[in-house]
Amino acid sequence: MSYPCIEMDLNKIKHNTKVLIDMCNKNNVDIAAVTKVFCANKEVVEAIVSCGIKYLADSRINNLKQLQHIDLKKILLRLPMQSRVNEIVKYADISLNSEIETVKLLSKAALELGKIHGVILMLDLGDLREGLFNEEKVDEFVNNIKKLDGVKLIGIGTNLTCYGGVIPKYDNLSKLSYYKKKIEDMIGYDLEIISGGNSSNIYLLQEGNMPSDINMLRLGEALALGRETAFGNQIENMYDDCFIMKAELIELQEKPSVPIGEIGMDAFGNKPEFEDKGIIKRAICAIGRQDISLEDIIPLDKDISIIGGSGDHLLLDVTKCKDYKVGDVISFKLTYTGILRSSTSEYVDKVLI
Ligand SMILES: *Cc1c(COP(=O)(O)O)cnc(C)c1O
Repeated sequence: MSYPCIEMDLNKIKHNTKVLIDMCNKNNVDIAAVTKVFCANKEVVEAIVSCGIKYLADSRINNLKQLQHIDLKKILLRLPMQSRVNEIVKYADISLNSEIETVKLLSKAALELGKIHGVILMLDLGDLREGLFNEEKVDEFVNNIKKLDGVKLIGIGTNLTCYGGVIPKYDNLSKLSYYKKKIEDMIGYDLEIISGGNSSNIYLLQEGNMPSDINMLRLGEALALGRETAFGNQIENMYDDCFIMKAELIELQEKPSVPIGEIGMDAFGNKPEFEDKGIIKRAICAIGRQDISLEDIIPLDKDISIIGGSGDHLLLDVTKCKDYKVGDVISFKLTYTGILRSSTSEYVDKVLI
């Protein structure tokens, strides 16, 4: 193992998965486990799969490509790029779509491969990221996809609380039921998947207030951090520390808290300001903004405060702590973005426990 590293606790991740499966089972909802936040790390995905989820989902086709040995339906979450339809039909069984021209290209690519690619039509219920917004557009999409071979409209979905921060409620989600019925009448068969959203729908499950037509949720943050994202609350009986960042201490010296000399710009072009706390114990860890944002790490030792950092250095005030020494390893919890970024960085070692 080398530092910095991100430790991934497979037992805690399995525990979180099981809690969510129980919660979803009670509401007849299947889980699409979203793997993008930990870069579809193979062992983590396998741990989640061993608990018995139904689908795997990721925004990047490169990540889904790594999961081909797992015999579950794979869903591409980000709308397909037209330039990559061949890989998409090859590595994903299903994709979320809103552009019929792209679906036409998926159809062509799927026919060439002899596959049927599943299409979930995304509906924008007000958050204003992806999805069709007007009913005429939905009609047009459905009428067009009916004529295509190689692709099948298997469901509809929506995504809230992403751009606009709109909270999913019984009322706005009920539009999915309206469209389900309407589209089924148009195509003459039942839609398999009504994909109601992401970790911001958890509170509706807990209240028993989600429209019963919704039979799938795409869950990432709830799995990784045990957090619901409508209000940002920790979910009872779930772990928020499945992923821990560890960094090595490379200097520990007593120095003033305020720099000496005329203050110009820091390494990032900002003019820094300092609070005078006299002489403090300053620690430097070998990790920096290249690996992580300072806002995304939370020291496990509550007596540590983060003073700042640059590309490769993290500065900590450890005055209130017991005796650290050079060579010690300091541990941090991570936010969602923290897990995402450090999982992606090749400078951060990935360690399974
Ligand atoms: C990332 C993503 C999700 C998962 O969201 P969480 O809040 O992490 O559960 C669901 N749907 C889409 C389309 C996504 O891109």
